[in-house]
Amino acid sequence: FLQIRDLHKSYGSLEILKGVTLDVARHEVVCLIGASGSGKSTLLRCINALEPIDSGTILVNGDQVTGLGVDLNALRRNVGIVFQSYNLFPHMSVLKNITLAPTMVGGVSKEAAEQRALELLEKIGLRNKAGSFPDALSGGQQQRVAIVRAMAMDPQVLLLDEITAALDPELVGDVLEMIRELAVDGLTMLLATHEMGFAREVASQVCFLHQGKILERGTPQQVFENPQEERTQQFLSRVI
Ligand code: ATP
Ligand code: MG
Repeated sequence: FLQIRDLHKSYGSLEILKGVTLDVARHEVVCLIGASGSGKSTLLRCINALEPIDSGTILVNGDQVTGLGVDLNALRRNVGIVFQSYNLFPHMSVLKNITLAPTMVGGVSKEAAEQRALELLEKIGLRNKAGSFPDALSGGQQQRVAIVRAMAMDPQVLLLDEITAALDPELVGDVLEMIRELAVDGLTMLLATHEMGFAREVASQVCFLHQGKILERGTPQQVFENPQEERTQQFLSRVI
């Protein structure tokens, strides 16, 4: 469903991604792991066309993500992204945050968007916060609203970049629980994470990114219990 072939990406003269090839099938949950600076965020940003690429191809559902004539609005409707810092609009209520994109670019009526937003909020127990502003919510609540905001566009794939990294440890669980439920519902996800325990539990595949390439990939069991590459072993011994 998501096909990345020989992707190269540099910032200035520094090559960050040196030929990344990766497939994510529909309904799969793929976790990207790797040292800080290995290029996980860069890769996710390239997939959503937030960064231009140097060479290679990225296909989402058969459509090119880069090049001339790409419909960025359509791409971003299909590919949701949530970042480490929740990036909610501070001057808008929770409800407005969630309904903005569906009404502005998704062609959904205000009433329909609000109804859907309230349903999604209900699911995560935050319906009573619909009228609140982001700064009245805890970090974990804000992050769950950010995920709801991405889900409000009914994306076909969701990219998640270290979504629990900025949270206090006691708030991480609720956010991970939400991702777990989305995985059970069959949402296709590609997530960069430092939470190895979570990756082990939720991922169908784990990819280890090292020096700009996917050095090793496999099921969580293969990668965590029987890593083949010395670099993967070294990385895991440092983080687990
Ligand atoms: P972390 O685990 O810390 O989030 P990461 O794997 O997500 O790390 P990236 O954020 O993708 O790593 O960064 C990869 C490299 O690209 C780093 O060396 C970083 O300094 C560099 N980099 C990222 N964004 C830019 C930018 N806009 N301009 C220049 N260099 C950048
Ligand atoms: Mg990152």
